Amino acid sequence: MRIDILTLFPDMCNAFLHESVIGRAIKAGKVDIRCHNIRDYTTDKHNRVDDAPYGGGMGMIMGVQPIYDCYMTLFGEEEPRPKLYYLSPKGETFTQKMACALSKQSHIVLLCGHYEGVDQRVLDELQCEEISVGDYVLTGGEMPALIVADAVARLLPGVLSDDICFEEESHFAGLLEYPQYTRPPEWKNREVPPVLLSGHHKNITEWRRQKAIETTFLKRPDMLKTADLTEKERAFIKELSQK
Ligand code: SAM
Repeated sequence: MRIDILTLFPDMCNAFLHESVIGRAIKAGKVDIRCHNIRDYTTDKHNRVDDAPYGGGMGMIMGVQPIYDCYMTLFGEEEPRPKLYYLSPKGETFTQKMACALSKQSHIVLLCGHYEGVDQRVLDELQCEEISVGDYVLTGGEMPALIVADAVARLLPGVLSDDICFEEESHFAGLLEYPQYTRPPEWKNREVPPVLLSGHHKNITEWRRQKAIETTFLKRPDMLKTADLTEKERAFIKELSQK
């Protein structure tokens, strides 16, 4: 899969993309993530990419020309052109479900706004879909773009090591993950639940499922309304709520 990030601050993105799991995945060719500096496409003789908002108000707005030319120079010849997503607090809130859907596309482009945002006309012209990472406002779309790129890339084959199963992770199947433990088996009088040391795979799977339901009940009961649960599991939740 290929992900292109259009930004005024490619170094911010590259610093993240060269490290850890995603850095290794890019090096190994499991995902292709490229950053492009929108400023390289401005035709303004002073290299400007923004201007004051019509109608007055604070801050600066990123103009249409550099963004449009950046996208069209890079992808204008492609048929079909890759879908453009604008990171924006006005967008649909990003979820694991959206990450899964995006990971099935072969190529996506992420547009990072900055300052007070982007001229609406270029978003309309390029038929952008807007993605928000939450109900708060950040200074730029770089961190949101990296959040999306990271969540999508780790779902691609070969990006995570084989023994990591994201199907049991929080949000994948509508539940939060069970608690996790590693060595030592005892620390400050706190023991690892004995079932996890038993080597009995069926019991471990059952314990983890039960703990995932319990954790979701305690931390995000709203998620249980849509989770895929058996009758027995629904009865277990009823028991929990009566305690
Ligand atoms: N004036 C805009 C508004 O009120 O909707 C906010 C602009 S914000 C200061 C600058 C840029 O940061 C936006 O263009 C967007 O790309 C990015 N951004 C800020 N908050 C975001 C969020 N919650 N999700 C995704 N992108 C965000």
